[in-house]
Amino acid sequence: MSNPKKPLILVSNDDGIYSNGIKALTEVAAEFGDVIIVAPDRQQSAVGHAITIETPLRAQKIKISDEFQGFAINGTPADCVKLAHDQLLDIKPDLVLSGINHGSNAGINILYSGTVSAATEGTVLGYSSIAVSCTDYDNEADLTGCQDAARRVITLVLDKGLPKGVTMNVNAPSGPIKGIKWARMADSRYVEEYEGRKDPFNRPYYWLTGKFELLDDGNDSDIHILNEGYAAVTPIQYDLTDYDLLRKLGEEDF
Ligand code: MN
Repeated sequence: MSNPKKPLILVSNDDGIYSNGIKALTEVAAEFGDVIIVAPDRQQSAVGHAITIETPLRAQKIKISDEFQGFAINGTPADCVKLAHDQLLDIKPDLVLSGINHGSNAGINILYSGTVSAATEGTVLGYSSIAVSCTDYDNEADLTGCQDAARRVITLVLDKGLPKGVTMNVNAPSGPIKGIKWARMADSRYVEEYEGRKDPFNRPYYWLTGKFELLDDGNDSDIHILNEGYAAVTPIQYDLTDYDLLRKLGEEDF
């Protein structure tokens, strides 16, 4: 038997390096290889693909447990993956994982998600990358089903790789899952509702309390599959070009 080299797995997230979700994903990653964690030093949910350009980034070495160590970064999830790639890692990773996010990254959430963007940044840099999220926002949610889904998708991606430009987006409900299904991103949006209040100096301020709206009754969408108790796995891409329309438009000169 040959003894293939252990893969190196970079783990990041958007809920911060001390969240339960990143611990749960790190445990799974360690079943497959050596793990290095590079994650934000604080909550960074819904920052999307933001990067830090006006202030310096600091990487603080953190011992998370006897087994795991990593770097806490005063930046965004995308910053973490970029900095790991360019400065912090001596050896390039074989896989980039992001999560497990506390909260769904199905439907339109994909666009706002810092968790997905950390994985997408991994894809941009040429690494096989997977985002993993739990639909339950509770920090104490049971992540075992998410861990099972992550295990299956990691096995698949390490074995077969991913096409250039594609990231795997994995969502699962809390607790045990019925199984795993391929899914497409559900058409959905937030109906924004801001609650307006007054501060102690009588100046108005506004707090976002958006309601999620599902605009999709297909049974193959990520949200439909999640509602049925399965994990949903969607291959997503950062190339946002609408090729069908481009082809049609290209038939005529401007
Ligand atoms: Mn989050």
